Amino acid sequence: MKVLVVGSGGREHALVWKIVQSPKVKKVYCAPGNAGTASQAENVDIKVDDITALADFAQKENIDLTVVGPELPLVLGISDEFNKRGLAVFGPDKVCSQFEGSKAFTKKFLMKYDVPTAAYGEYDDIQNAVSDIDKYGYPVVIKADGLAAGKGVIIAETKDVALEALEDMMEKQVFGDSGKVVVLEEFLEGIEASVLCFVDGKKIIPMESAQDYKRIFDGDKGLNTGGMGTYSPNRLFDHGLEETMKKEILEPIMKGLLSEGMDFRGVLFIGLMIKNGKPKVLEFNVRFGDPETESVLLRLESDIVEIFEKVVRGNLSPNDLKWKSDKAVCVVLASGGYPGDYEVGKEIKGIDEVDGAIVFHCGTKTVDGKVVTDGGRVLAVSATGEDLKKAAEKAYGEINKISFEGMQYRKDISK
Ligand code: AMP
Repeated sequence: MKVLVVGSGGREHALVWKIVQSPKVKKVYCAPGNAGTASQAENVDIKVDDITALADFAQKENIDLTVVGPELPLVLGISDEFNKRGLAVFGPDKVCSQFEGSKAFTKKFLMKYDVPTAAYGEYDDIQNAVSDIDKYGYPVVIKADGLAAGKGVIIAETKDVALEALEDMMEKQVFGDSGKVVVLEEFLEGIEASVLCFVDGKKIIPMESAQDYKRIFDGDKGLNTGGMGTYSPNRLFDHGLEETMKKEILEPIMKGLLSEGMDFRGVLFIGLMIKNGKPKVLEFNVRFGDPETESVLLRLESDIVEIFEKVVRGNLSPNDLKWKSDKAVCVVLASGGYPGDYEVGKEIKGIDEVDGAIVFHCGTKTVDGKVVTDGGRVLAVSATGEDLKKAAEKAYGEINKISFEGMQYRKDISK
């Protein structure tokens, strides 16, 4: 088979890494890829939102399966275009991708199908939002409806901050059209966790759990980031919580998809807030998480290409997912200054010396034969071990071999 992976981050490098292990696969392409994917796949210089060029490439090269990493092409309808041309694609269509493209759409769905979630309101008029705001209590959660590169959620402790956020989103349109509509939400307390599921149109099958670390500094201090690390499985997920989640979250979601006639085929990523063993849904994403993928895939024993094919065909069974008992830890190495301003183009040293972990590239490129930094999140170093302590020791031990100017990372992943 020839497989095309769309995207250029650590998630896509992890997908490429797992896909090349499949005996079914002869050749992998990655568009546009990074310095890491280039070592296992052939990078193709096409942007993730250039859907016509991606479909043309897949047709010309007789690609047997395309796997879409990021949300943007999914929300833009890449799967519809591929399906129209008879090309096999892993990732939901435009209708289903509204779960990530519109927070208001997701909230309506959750309410309609009695999936536990925070109380909310949807507003397209700032005056109405302002007059309702006190109703939610403080802190209040303010969300731009559309895609906002992970920055569209403000948790406002006071009314002043809330009003400023509404003005920024709805009047100044700092997120463009994405903030024309906002969702106001009751603030939920608890512990956050995420569950990634394969959905094959008829069934929803959860993968092994992971815990991510969103804040930049140890002890969950500092600003939110795209994710500074993960470990798998998540300590929170005991048998009781798994059963509750199946009954109260996964089953009503699947029932809702079927009732709405939504033929979801791909990964549904469910963000949860858990309090006293009761999960509520915070958000949906319609793709693999980054950096959840970089720990979870290390534990997947099964051939991921077979799983993708079965999802596309609509005949995945829970027995198709075999997991290793080993635990996994992934630590992200970021540029100095991230998630604020940072410089790129710093030479990365030591990657070749790493032998006890896998180094996934997130934001890198090759310049004059040298690998240099090319993003906020630069590398994701992932290791497995018979317990989390051993996996973390391995990952952190290998990180000591890597260096670039300004490199920063959390020291408390999985601890
Ligand atoms: P979302 O993109 O909707 O998941 O929001 C991003 C982050 O904002 C979440 O991961 C939570 O940390 C936080 N968040 C979102 N909604 C709520 C809520 N209703 N209560 C508390 N925190 C929330």
